[in-house]
Amino acid sequence: MATRIMARLSRRETPHTTWCAQDHRCGVAEHRSPDITADEIGGRAWLTRIRAGDVEYIEIRARIPLHSNEKVARWQLATALQIMRELLNEVFPRLSRLTGREQRPAISRRTA
Ligand SMILES: [Zn+2]
Repeated sequence: MATRIMARLSRRETPHTTWCAQDHRCGVAEHRSPDITADEIGGRAWLTRIRAGDVEYIEIRARIPLHSNEKVARWQLATALQIMRELLNEVFPRLSRLTGREQRPAISRRTA
């Protein structure tokens, strides 16, 4: 536990970016953009651009109402998972080109 705390305390402060919020959303070594929101069609999704150290990534959050019928709700969940797989493959194709692997095990793994 003490080691973990020391690791946090030793992070080097990084400057704000041109796109980050430059307020309480940023940390010492993590910078976050204001949320980009899509809410035109019933559900709501938020994208946030993040730089942590020298790595940048997209954080995606979504709130999608599920149907009260369990069968329809499960179809919604399966569809959302499939679309997330497609999204990951579409926006992060570089990994398969670098490794020569077409399938990413964590993405293509089926849930029970
Ligand atoms: Zn910042």
